[in-house]
Amino acid sequence: MITVMKFGGTSVGSPEALQRAVGIILNEKNDKIVVVSAMSGITNFLINGVENLPESRETLITEFEKKHVDAAHQLLKDELMDDFMAEFDRRMGSFKALLYDEAASRDPYYIDNITSQGERFSSLILSFALKGSGAKSVALTSEDSGIFAEGRPLMGSANLQKTESMAPLKIKPYIIDGVIPVITGFYGIKNDGLPLTFGRGGSDYSAAVVANAMNADLLEIWTDVDGFMSADPRIIPDAVKIDEMNFSEAAELAYFGAKVLHPRTIEPVRMKHIPLKVRNAFKPEEPGTLIHHLQTPKSRMLKSVALKTDLSIIAISSAEIAFHPDMVARIIERIAENEVVIYSISTSLSTVAFLVHGNDVKSILARLNTLDPEDIERIEVKNDMALVCAVGDNLLSRCGVSADIFSAVKEARANVEMISEGASDVSLNFVVPMSKATDVVKILHGKYARGSDEGL
Ligand code: ASP
Ligand code: MG
Repeated sequence: MITVMKFGGTSVGSPEALQRAVGIILNEKNDKIVVVSAMSGITNFLINGVENLPESRETLITEFEKKHVDAAHQLLKDELMDDFMAEFDRRMGSFKALLYDEAASRDPYYIDNITSQGERFSSLILSFALKGSGAKSVALTSEDSGIFAEGRPLMGSANLQKTESMAPLKIKPYIIDGVIPVITGFYGIKNDGLPLTFGRGGSDYSAAVVANAMNADLLEIWTDVDGFMSADPRIIPDAVKIDEMNFSEAAELAYFGAKVLHPRTIEPVRMKHIPLKVRNAFKPEEPGTLIHHLQTPKSRMLKSVALKTDLSIIAISSAEIAFHPDMVARIIERIAENEVVIYSISTSLSTVAFLVHGNDVKSILARLNTLDPEDIERIEVKNDMALVCAVGDNLLSRCGVSADIFSAVKEARANVEMISEGASDVSLNFVVPMSKATDVVKILHGKYARGSDEGL
């Protein structure tokens, strides 16, 4: 039995946190593979540094070295510290060379290469801390582990097939020898052998990719919260932790608001029915949230109500636009440039409306202005919108659910500006003005996620 255990930035962010992680790892009975993020703050620090090169170079090197060596000093004794420093200096040598490499800095994937450094060092410290506690361990980079990536800079996706054919060959021998591999999260390697990162927060995804490739029996994401919640506790003080949910529910929640998991973490484990647990590294006695492929036991109508704020609706009107799919395609193409995320689309005979982040509106309007003015009659923008995402198992196959949900919205005296239902059968998403959003969430949560009303 194999458990893949992922530790996030705060869970490896200080000597105390690292020691706690060691305790959690050693407590696990199964064979284990560990995947880590950079120490907290380090990825931001590297991004900032790389943006201000070459001026930032010297401070970047000194502070980066200090942070990691100080942590190691507090954890490792004598000989082990010497061994650590030998490998540390070797890795630091490559990092420094990269910072001075003019040609490399012109590569579009240079920032990927620099930001991958955080994980290379956190994994080294954690692996040595495990050795310090008497375990056998090895620090493996994504290069060493055969984790392959493809895609554009800073937005890589794992090549699951290639990883599945390589990673077991590289990792299994250690497990057979009782050695705990500690692997770098956040990036894989391209066909040319150079790093490509999976987007911010991507170590969760890395861990899921490793679990997939190794056919693990369990993936544990050790983070700094208790698990998925029935609502954001900052808005809803009586929100409760969700004990159990299925992959679809977790995927919707991760995508639309709850910042518990990187949204792409679900797919690699869902494909192989590998259960996933979200656990709090600061409260290891808590069971966390279990996510699996089975239907969860009969429960309240809603598992969770998530909220995404600061959105805008851009509505584009043009005569009979519904009969001109080519034009709709051109509009979408313009909007989606520069990786803009479109949260929802709805169409009528003469209008197409898009839900986007408020920060993107200005650039989208500038791009829409480059379309033929004859094509577009009117563009209307509604700012300060919020997307409410109501999630529940098999939600849409329950009769009367929409009526119940919208009657709660009416109670909050909110006007529904946009609806998306049916895109996923576990969620009903709709847009209301931000000024009403908290009330809507409170009423929905009170009635259908927590209250006595079973709503079935
Ligand atoms: N260290 C990376 C980041 O800060 C990846 C991660 O933490 O998951 O985005
Ligand atoms: Mg994270």
